[in-house]
Amino acid sequence: MSKKKLGLNTICTHVGEIKDEQFKGAVSPIYVSTSYEFDDVDLKRYPRYFNTPNQEFLAKKIAALEHTEAAMIFGSGMAAISHMFLAFLQNGDHIVVQNTLYGGTSNFIREEFHKYGIEYTFTEGYKVSDFEAAIQPNTKLIHIETPSNPLLTITDVKGVANLGRSKGIITTIDNTFASPINQNPIDLGIDIVMHSATKYLGGHSDILAGAVASTQEHMDRIWNVSKNLGGSLSDMTVWMLERSMKTLALRVKAQTKNAHKLAAFLDKHDDVAKVYYPGLKNHPEHELAKSQMKDFGAMLSFELVDDIDAMSFMKQLHLIKPSMSLAGVESTMLLPAETSHSLLTQDQRDDIGISNQLIRFSVGIETFRDLKSDINQAITKTKTTTFA
Ligand SMILES: *Cc1c(COP(=O)(O)O)cnc(C)c1O
Repeated sequence: MSKKKLGLNTICTHVGEIKDEQFKGAVSPIYVSTSYEFDDVDLKRYPRYFNTPNQEFLAKKIAALEHTEAAMIFGSGMAAISHMFLAFLQNGDHIVVQNTLYGGTSNFIREEFHKYGIEYTFTEGYKVSDFEAAIQPNTKLIHIETPSNPLLTITDVKGVANLGRSKGIITTIDNTFASPINQNPIDLGIDIVMHSATKYLGGHSDILAGAVASTQEHMDRIWNVSKNLGGSLSDMTVWMLERSMKTLALRVKAQTKNAHKLAAFLDKHDDVAKVYYPGLKNHPEHELAKSQMKDFGAMLSFELVDDIDAMSFMKQLHLIKPSMSLAGVESTMLLPAETSHSLLTQDQRDDIGISNQLIRFSVGIETFRDLKSDINQAITKTKTTTFA
């Protein structure tokens, strides 16, 4: 079976299964051993070496989905990011990072890098020219995130990949928001792709995990550092992640379809001031998104009109949950000004376009009609409470 020819749902269901030779069970057995007999071959299996049977086999599914030779599963998205960065950066090196970045990644860079003597520049914007302008003679890595959180800006993946190639700089991407179902950055020339598997790969808000995928050569380099840092995932959770990923394409496609409809519905709504969704024609990078994504994903943001307070609206929702995390099968909303971006001042938030009315919407798999009525009833309730 050639993996390239397999359809997405077949990869999700079958690639990386461990055959149960002993009992012929339908699903992969879980190998929880932390101790394995030495083989004749030079392979020492140990959970922290990222090479237990469950870790090794699930990595094949992720590699198949991201079109890479190899992959590794980590204990969290941040373990994936930190191990990946530290594998390619050392004292005296410099990294260029996109200005709009997942908060944890940005904290890791700002709080830890000076201890290692690693220099960094956050870009001014997210255009290729902004990345080029930030490059220094000692730049070793460029890291991007697209679509970005929470305004869903789109970075030109091929443009940044070519920039890196032309200067001999490694390019990495946080592909969490798109998931491998909606975007395959390796095909656009990016060197290394990572995921917070806590989000779409897990998909049920019950697993904390991460993943990195690339060539065998790059993954070997990451492995050499990761085995020292020790951010591997327990095999019980690896197994849960395998089970979740069987429905990855089904889930993400259903979520994406809902997001299309909800973005269109919100865009036409009289009480909604603005919608941020790359699938909308009025999104500034709609054409770019169309050229580099297979579909536009299931994350969107919107602003209610000024006289409907976003916080009061959130409190009136019955079905959609106010929640920090994202990408589960259930729809969730949050206010970035109150959560992910609460440490910034009002001025800083205004500068990057995050208003107090901005609501980030992680669209789930529920029936569209029910999500729509939940939003409508919450708007009506907020209006009547405000003006009563
Ligand atoms: C959640 C998230 C992370 C961090 O992942 P954890 O699994 O929470 O460590 C990184 N990047 C993005 C875009 C995320 O949404």
